[in-house]
Amino acid sequence: MAQNSGEKGRGVGKGACPRCGGATSKGTLKAGNQEAQVVIAGEPDGFLGVIPYTTSQVAARVCRDCGHIELFARNLQDLLKVEPDDE
Ligand SMILES: [Zn+2]
Repeated sequence: MAQNSGEKGRGVGKGACPRCGGATSKGTLKAGNQEAQVVIAGEPDGFLGVIPYTTSQVAARVCRDCGHIELFARNLQDLLKVEPDDE
């Protein structure tokens, strides 16, 4: 029953640093005064050559021990809508 999170013996739940296992804090990635966004472009429209794209705000998780930062797209479903396929 207690086997769910015993990966590699770290014994830490979600939110722990993947590098050192330390505690992490949530943060927001900013670019200048604005929140940073990640942009994914889709396939160009054949006729007009318009490239659809979608954006998402970026959430960050910072390790308090080693400083490692992980980034997450907040609107993952929206981002995936425009993505044609992997490669
Ligand atoms: Zn760390």
